[in-house]
Amino acid sequence: MTKCPNCGAELRFSPEKQKMLCDYCTSEFTTEELAEAEKPVIDEAPAAARSTEQTAKDEKEFAEATRVYVCNNCGASIISDENTAAAECYYCHNPVTLTGRISGEFRPARLIPFKLTRPEAEEIMGKFIKKKWFVPNSFRTQKQLEKMVGLYTPFWLTDCKTNASISAEATIVHSHTSGDYTITNTKYYECDRAAYMNFEKIPADGSKKLDDDFIDSVEPFDYNDLTEFNMNYLAGFMADKYDVPKNDILDRIRTRAGDAAAEVLKADITGYSSVSIKQKNVNLIRTDWEYVMLPLWFMTYTYKGKIYEFAVNGQTGKVAGLPPMSGLKYGLTLAGIFIGTLIIGGIASGFFG
Ligand SMILES: [Zn+2]
Ligand SMILES: [Zn+2]
Repeated sequence: MTKCPNCGAELRFSPEKQKMLCDYCTSEFTTEELAEAEKPVIDEAPAAARSTEQTAKDEKEFAEATRVYVCNNCGASIISDENTAAAECYYCHNPVTLTGRISGEFRPARLIPFKLTRPEAEEIMGKFIKKKWFVPNSFRTQKQLEKMVGLYTPFWLTDCKTNASISAEATIVHSHTSGDYTITNTKYYECDRAAYMNFEKIPADGSKKLDDDFIDSVEPFDYNDLTEFNMNYLAGFMADKYDVPKNDILDRIRTRAGDAAAEVLKADITGYSSVSIKQKNVNLIRTDWEYVMLPLWFMTYTYKGKIYEFAVNGQTGKVAGLPPMSGLKYGLTLAGIFIGTLIIGGIASGFFG
């Protein structure tokens, strides 16, 4: 039986399509694509380079040296090392209970270690909040900043291979002037491009709680800093246990790789006045997964029953988050803008009237 090079499920042959289909992740493959999928996306896949024996040993060590705390309020599972006790949930700030051990499969192969210290992250976050005029005063306190936790966030990094093709309409426009007239001559061309294309390290977070757009806005990370995981990195930090399995993010990867592939092919059509894609077909034909942890100084703020997420990228210092608006302050500002407009309007009509 042939396994799906994207998700690992078994493929079946479809007589109608004359292709191999994966019913699990809806991928489909021609014989040629399956042959191409045999070739690795990048030459040395680090996860595959470790022996199964070493992996089993590492996973056992991880399972023994970590603790898991569960929040009964929001369901967060927090991983810490055995010497770092978690008292409250990093997400909803309710008490957490120790539930014991975690299975070794949650050990990441690699991580990006924290570069920013807590004081550095507090300073960045403090400045970020200060600029937001609308936030409630209770959000601006040092006590709020102290709620920030160094959180290793679970990410799936995917290397993938696509078979992409586009059909585009291109134009060449010439104009010349003849007496009082400008004559425009537009020629249309149909341009097709196709290629196998590889993409490396497309990130997608493995946490249901964290908002995808929010996470996208603390990216990018510099993956050159990816380091073999070692228990020492966890001391004093928390880690979030992933709850989105890799197959659940295949569609996100398909979209991101597909859009990127179409853009690369479009950029190859040069020498025209305009190029527009009429049709694109991007098939994901191989996906290699790596589960990693990436560093975030993470903080939430609850306002009127809603949780707002904030983070400073623990590697680059990039900050993200949409603070809650205080109703009163926001109302006052709107009133201010309105009054301002009236006065300007008054002057204008006085002047002209
Ligand atoms: Zn599949
Ligand atoms: Zn919680």
